[in-house]
Amino acid sequence: MRRTIAILAVVLVVVVAVVVFHVRRPGPADDVRIPEAPSRILIVGIDGLDWSRVNRLADEGRMPNVARMRSEGASGILHSIRPFVSPTIWTCIATGKTEEKHGISGFLVNTPNPADASPTTDNMPQAKGIATSNMRKVKAVWQILSAAERSVGVIGWLVTYPADVVSGYLISSHVTLALSAKREARAPNQTDDWLSEGIYPKSLWSEVADNVYHEEDVGDSIIESFIATSMDRARQEEKVRTSSLAKFYAADMTSLTLARHFFETRPADFNAVYFRGSDITSHFFWRFMEPESWKKELSAEAIETFSPVVERYYALADSLLGEVIELVDDDTYVVLLSDHGFAGHRGYRGFEGDVAVGIEMHREDGIIFVRGPGIKPGGSVAGASVLDVTPTVLALAGLPVARDMDGRPLTEIMSSTFLERHPVVHIESYEVGDAPGGDLTPIESPVDDEIKEMLRSLGYID
Ligand SMILES: [Zn+2]
Repeated sequence: MRRTIAILAVVLVVVVAVVVFHVRRPGPADDVRIPEAPSRILIVGIDGLDWSRVNRLADEGRMPNVARMRSEGASGILHSIRPFVSPTIWTCIATGKTEEKHGISGFLVNTPNPADASPTTDNMPQAKGIATSNMRKVKAVWQILSAAERSVGVIGWLVTYPADVVSGYLISSHVTLALSAKREARAPNQTDDWLSEGIYPKSLWSEVADNVYHEEDVGDSIIESFIATSMDRARQEEKVRTSSLAKFYAADMTSLTLARHFFETRPADFNAVYFRGSDITSHFFWRFMEPESWKKELSAEAIETFSPVVERYYALADSLLGEVIELVDDDTYVVLLSDHGFAGHRGYRGFEGDVAVGIEMHREDGIIFVRGPGIKPGGSVAGASVLDVTPTVLALAGLPVARDMDGRPLTEIMSSTFLERHPVVHIESYEVGDAPGGDLTPIESPVDDEIKEMLRSLGYID
């Protein structure tokens, strides 16, 4: 018996040694000393949350989870980059690089004239496509972490269709938007497998489809929780606005439902989840909250009905944050971000004239909150940029920061003990090995029309 156990023990040691040997393939960062990963990281990305409003609502007790992050960790303005277009900025956040380097110039991108492979000229007619991940010219943080053998889980991040190959899983924003709009999530087949291209690995399809919150399930009582009168009256006044509220509420609830399922069943070293509704509701409803700054006439009924929507959606965003934090360990680093701030009209920055629509309503002051082991409690961050997020995540993960990134790790929020134990290490670049696409042509999908319709209703395009 004892001999059998001894033999089994030897076999076990050999098996473990073989597995470890094979799993530890050399990554691109293996030429530098990598400190032990101190902990896990969670990024909660919430589009368009404005710094001053978030702070005020936290002071008033209406964003309690944000208030807790503010006292437990470091916080400050996350400076955005002009022209404040969300797909571009979320890609800056995910790469630590400027638009010139990452190549995602907006929601809509010019596609080269197929008759002429040479660079397009101004007088050549160009089709406008929806930017897709194959056009990104540099690695996203989840690809860098995957190459360093960290597990990742990404849900709903902008410009992640088709899904990147990662060590873990990735569910693109095309998928969360399209599935929440469908009543029956169909399994992909030969003619409809575009959706599964947004999920890596594709084998997760049925689990994704089982965790969707459908737009049809957003009942009147949910919409009424955001407005000040009955749903009947709201529908009469502003049909498009109320249906958009329902659509993006459903998409956000789908991201939450997916996070609940995947963060629990597949815990990863790096998790990221993105919520869109706060930006959309700000575009549609901010004017009713600050009607005096809106230069067009608004009816008294509409102002009364819709004035609470934006702040109530901010409160919802806070509860989404609280729910997602509950899904990870207490010692996980939590990074809360928005890509830009928001203002009712251009007057905010001293412009005069027309009522602002589309991206003119965005302003520079987004938010960043970071908490976790070794982050100074109650600290403030000054001068942080959207380009600093990936370098900071890499530093927290104990991985080198690349010199070809345009941002810097926010070391001022880390304690001296943390920095002694995990000094920031640099390498030249992560852009080695398999280079990401950098294609000039986006990959079309049936969700494109829906996105274009959304851009039209927000005033981004005619
Ligand atoms: Zn926006």
